[in-house]
Formats: sequence, C-alpha cells, structure tokens
Amino acid sequence: MPDGLSTPVRNDWKWQTGTDISRIGCVKFAYVCSKKKGGAAMPCELKEKERTGVINPIFTCQPAGAQYASIGIKDCIGIVHGGQGCVMFVRLWFSQHYKESFELASSSLHEDAAVFGGVHRVEEAVDVLLMRYPDVKIVPIITTCSTEVIGDDVDGVVTKLNEGLLKEKYAGREVHLIPIHTPSFKGSHVTGYDVAVEEIIKHFAKKDKAAKKLNLLTGWQNPGDVRTLKHLLTEMDVEANVIFDIEEFDAPLMPDGNHVAHGSTTMEDLENTGSAIGTIALNRYEVGKAAQYLENEFDIPTVIGPSPIGIRNTDTFLENVKKLTGKSIPASLVKERGIAIDAITDVAHMFLADKRVAIYGHPDLVIGLAEFCLDLEMKPVLLLLGDDNTKYGEDSRIKALQENVDYDMEIVTNADLWDLGDRLQNKGLKLDLILGHSKGRFIAMDNKVPLVRVGFPVFDRAGYHREATVGYEGAMLLAEKMANVWFTDMEYTQNKEWLLNMW
Ligand code: SF4
Repeated sequence: MPDGLSTPVRNDWKWQTGTDISRIGCVKFAYVCSKKKGGAAMPCELKEKERTGVINPIFTCQPAGAQYASIGIKDCIGIVHGGQGCVMFVRLWFSQHYKESFELASSSLHEDAAVFGGVHRVEEAVDVLLMRYPDVKIVPIITTCSTEVIGDDVDGVVTKLNEGLLKEKYAGREVHLIPIHTPSFKGSHVTGYDVAVEEIIKHFAKKDKAAKKLNLLTGWQNPGDVRTLKHLLTEMDVEANVIFDIEEFDAPLMPDGNHVAHGSTTMEDLENTGSAIGTIALNRYEVGKAAQYLENEFDIPTVIGPSPIGIRNTDTFLENVKKLTGKSIPASLVKERGIAIDAITDVAHMFLADKRVAIYGHPDLVIGLAEFCLDLEMKPVLLLLGDDNTKYGEDSRIKALQENVDYDMEIVTNADLWDLGDRLQNKGLKLDLILGHSKGRFIAMDNKVPLVRVGFPVFDRAGYHREATVGYEGAMLLAEKMANVWFTDMEYTQNKEWLLNMW
C-alpha cells in the first residue's frame, strides 16, 4: 500500500484507528473529544506561583545549561567564569545522570574578584586550558551570577585574547573563544542552554558550505533519544546534522580505557548549520533561539517543535521531515508506529485511563508528556514549570490545553517541588502518578505516589538515559513504564492486584 504509507501520518492515523475504534480509540482521541463534549471554556489555569522564594527547585541556574551545550561538542571545553562550585556541582549533576565523567573548567574566582574584577582569571584559565589540552579548539566562556554582577567584560577579554595570547603564544592553532552570558539571577538551565546553542551557532554557521543536510536541533535529550531520532531519520533516508550529537554520552568502556565522555558534534557540523536544506528544532524553549537565528540569517526553512513525545507528536515530526526534505515515510516506520500503538492499547484504557498525574520538568518535556497522557485518557492535573518565562502564555500547546481540557488542571510557572508536596499534604490534591526527575523522589515517597522517572536529572534508576522518551519507541516505553510502575503499586498497596492475574 505505497500510497497509503506515503500520506501524512496524522491522516493515516484515522485510517489505522478508524477500523476498530473500540479497541484503540482510547489512544489519541480523549484530548480531541473533550472539546466536543464540553463546549464551554474549560478550567485549565496558567498561573505563577504566588509565594516568593524557591524551596526544592525544579531547575538549576543558567550556566548549567551552557555547560551542557559545551560538553556536546567535540574538542571543546567550556570555562565557567565564576566560583568553582558553579562547575563542580553541575559536573556532578551530569555525572549522576549519565554515570560518566565530563570535562569542564573554571576560572575559579575568589573574594578579591568581587572588589577588583576577575577577567584576569579568564586570561589565565584560557592559557592553562590550551596548554594542558592541545586538541581543544572551542572554548565557550560562560558567565555566572557573580561575574555578571561584578560586570566583568568577558567580550572585551575575548577580543584581547584573540589579539594577544592566541596570536603570540598559540599562533597557527585554531581556537575559538565564545562568550556566553548566562547570569543566573534570571532564567534557568533551560534558557542557559537556549542562549548557549544560539551563541555557538552564531559563531560558526556559514552560508558558503556545500553540505545540504537537515539541521536537527534536538534540545536537551538523552543518548537513547538521539539514537531513536537518528533511527527515524535513517529510515526516512534523510541525512541529518544533529546538534548536539550526544549519543556518546552513553560512553563505552574500551580496552585502552577512557575516562571522559563528550559529544561528537564537530566544528564543521556547526559551520554546516548555515547551509542546511531545513531546520527542525524539537524543543522550543531549548533550541528555539538558534533555529530562529538560522532562519533569519540564512533563510533556512524552519520548523520549531513539537518535541516528538507520544504518537501524535512523532507523527508531526515525521510529517515535518517529509515537508522539508521531500522524503516519504517508509513502511518500516508505519509498522513501528503500529507496534507502539498496539502496545499502548494493551495498557491505556484498562490501566492508565483516568489516572491523575502531576508532571514537572523542562517545559517542552512537560507539555509533550501532558499531551501524551491526554491521548492515553489520563488526567494531567498539575503541570509544574520551574521558571518564570513570560512566553508560556503564548504557547499554542498551552492554549490548546486551556481550550480543550474538561477537568480542573493547573499549570504553575516559577514553580518548585514544595508546591507539589504542599498540594499533596495540605490542599487535598489526589494523584495516581507523578512524572518527573529524581529530585521529586522524597515527595513521591512521603506521599506514597508512584514516581515515573523522566527528564533531567535521573540518578536513582539504572540505565534511564539509554532509553528513549521520543519517537514511537519512546511512546511505547513510556506508556509501558507508567503501567509497570502502576502495577507494582497495585501489588504493594494490594489495590486490585488480582486484575494482573487476568490481564
Ligand atoms: S547560582 Fe550563581 S553561584 Fe550558584 S551555581 Fe549558579 S552561577 Fe554559580
């Protein structure tokens, strides 16, 4: 059925589900139908946390995001201009999640810098780094709260180093110093990543390259996600320039030994972003700025979002790839999709339907998970976004939630995990599941609500980073993971566990 396979996937969904809606109608249509059933405006509220201060934050600070971008690039070590802790805890965070070691440097400021300034520490740090690492070519210089408050002129010192140290001491060596401003008194690690990706692409992207690949700006993903995205594109016979390719964060232990992991995106890959046939940016809040820059500067056709979480968003992703490349969706992916839908159908209506869920973490992840949960007839009742981005209200996906959801749902910005605990302990919030990263584990344990680990960081489950959350495979794994967590809960709480004998 070649014609059927080459039609847009979201249309052929109807072809697939329409034949036996009683069996698989539970997937996808709950969300759409709620609008039709309810008619009137639905009670889904977007609001900022009322309390000042943050207790048990969901996010960390901007420089962490810039550091995450820098470890995704080959021959690159970022220097964080600030106190040593701004690197130490972030490295630990990455290492906990990936169970690998990563290379990052610090200008290691001390008290005197608060009075006299600390740019001389950047000069020393660049020199020491280049001496110690002869292969390093790219050095993002990442500011922090302290150095932004002091007012250190990082752009000026980069100019000085380019004119002085690099010409004199490192003549003939290609070195790129890239200032990245990430004051941590605004935004979060999500915006820090967004800013860093934009600055790095601005620095390298060129028009005159012959390469004609599709830019895939992945956003903050796991190696399992990158592997899955590459697989989808390979099946579609699309050559992609994956920014950043962090598949190797799942680093092998080789006979000759290895002690660090790093991404494999090269300088050439970054240059080629300016000559792509198109750009797909998966996560609006993580790579939207860079995608917009490429579109404005190089006139590259660009699609921003959605993150391919769940069946429907993966359909959209493939449709977008098809539009930008002219390649068709092969039978192999229709089959893969069918396997995922079949697996999801086995657990959705019987076990997941009506389960009340709270979700916290990166905004694109939270929104994608909420959409997927709705497709599974679940009820995301609380979405917690850990920063105060004022653009959330303009997000068409959030608007769609507000227009379509037919039960009480809260979307809280600038939220923290205390909000979640308070609602559970004092405000009568009833939940069946929580979706989020490991930092919410104590709230889940104290309130005896099963926590499905998803997002960043996840350090209390083995191998999580190896699994996909995106694509058909990710949708299947996620639905099954939610079901399995729920099954375990049924057994431990003796809540209808007999059902599992008959399933
Ligand atoms: S908040 Fe400031 S001092 Fe703390 S880790 Fe972030 S940049 Fe460093």
